[in-house]
Amino acid sequence: MIGDLVKGLATTVRYMFRKPVTIEYPEVKRPVRERFRGKHELKRFENGMERCIGCSLCSAACPSDAILVVPAENNPQQPNSPGERYAATYEINMLRCIFCGYCEDACPTNAIVLEHQYELSYYDRRASIYTKDMLLVPPDQGHGAIPPVLEQVNRTPSPPAQIEL
Ligand code: SF4
Ligand code: SF4
Repeated sequence: MIGDLVKGLATTVRYMFRKPVTIEYPEVKRPVRERFRGKHELKRFENGMERCIGCSLCSAACPSDAILVVPAENNPQQPNSPGERYAATYEINMLRCIFCGYCEDACPTNAIVLEHQYELSYYDRRASIYTKDMLLVPPDQGHGAIPPVLEQVNRTPSPPAQIEL
């Protein structure tokens, strides 16, 4: 018993002379790990077009039904995204989100990405709905070229194969 007491006191004394590890948040923000999953961002291609093609795969993959996607047809003269469709509405209910990253994994165009922003407090339930305007990055922050498969979406469809019955 005395041995345990001495051991405990020795630990206390040892830590008394070490530099404190307290971080004075919010003045000092500790960098998060590279694979940390924080607030989502909707990304763009390097030419400023939205990466989201409104396919709703993220919504289907979400285990907590937190994502609402309402797709619409692109105007060929002024398309929002390189695909035939884009997300006219894109919302994430942050009260439901468990930051699992399944939406990110399911997205075929790397449009939805969980980034490092973790300051997500709000005072009422309605504020927990993050809209497309809140998620979409500015046009000058796009990256990556449009993949050829998306460039070809407006091609004339091949006629269906004739099947002998
Ligand atoms: S991180 Fe997970 S829970 Fe949150 S929106 Fe994406 S799939 Fe849904
Ligand atoms: S974020 Fe990705 S998976 Fe979700 S609708 Fe847009 S393109 Fe599809």
